[in-house]
Amino acid sequence: MTTVLVVVAHPDDETFGCGSSLLHAAERGARTVVVCATRGEAGEVRAGVDAPDGVAALREAELRASADLLGVGEVEVLDFVDSGMGGEAGPATLVGAPDDQVREAVRSAIDRHHPDVVITLDGGDGHRDHLRVREAVEQVLAGTSTVLYLHCLPRSLMHAWVRHHAGDQDAAAYTELPAIGTPDDELTTVLETGRFLAERDAAIALHRSQVSPFEGLPDELRRAFLGNEHLIRVHPAWTGGERETELTGLA
Ligand SMILES: [Zn+2]
Repeated sequence: MTTVLVVVAHPDDETFGCGSSLLHAAERGARTVVVCATRGEAGEVRAGVDAPDGVAALREAELRASADLLGVGEVEVLDFVDSGMGGEAGPATLVGAPDDQVREAVRSAIDRHHPDVVITLDGGDGHRDHLRVREAVEQVLAGTSTVLYLHCLPRSLMHAWVRHHAGDQDAAAYTELPAIGTPDDELTTVLETGRFLAERDAAIALHRSQVSPFEGLPDELRRAFLGNEHLIRVHPAWTGGERETELTGLA
């Protein structure tokens, strides 16, 4: 059986990021696994949500519930601490821990789950933990035959997102939009996943301590983000041509 492994930094990355890829892989008969490097303890908890046993316990429970809904066969949480968006990162955090410690933790998780296909976030949103996980995954899989994908937020959609949040009046003030997200022409792979919208929404809602980046978006933009999965295939190396519409290694 094919195993698809999603490696992420925080609870919610698997759902807000790769949720439909996981549903897609499970529908295709693959066994799916999520490895999450932290418990997201630096995340802000939505007002009105209690965390009686602490943020880490709450977010790990949300991760496991969402993964279950997404048909994930196994969830493994590593013991790094969420570094947060900025500020000093302590020695137990994903960013503050020594490089080789992060790399070996990722290597050992990948060895345990024997994936045929690995997906991680490309980090185009600029979060330092996302970039840290991507770097470790790329180092571990370099030179192997494991298929590797980066999950992306296309720049065109991120710019629409920025304009939406700026509001109609302020949008005109942007003479130049930030270099956020992945340049659209770098995408190699687009999965059509509109059939999973209801399940994806339900999984997003299970991360009830978090405000999803898709909350409050106009319907059309929401669908553009959630109805397709946008990826870059790293290995086997992309040699150009028309974008693929299926994950290599899955068919
Ligand atoms: Zn994250």
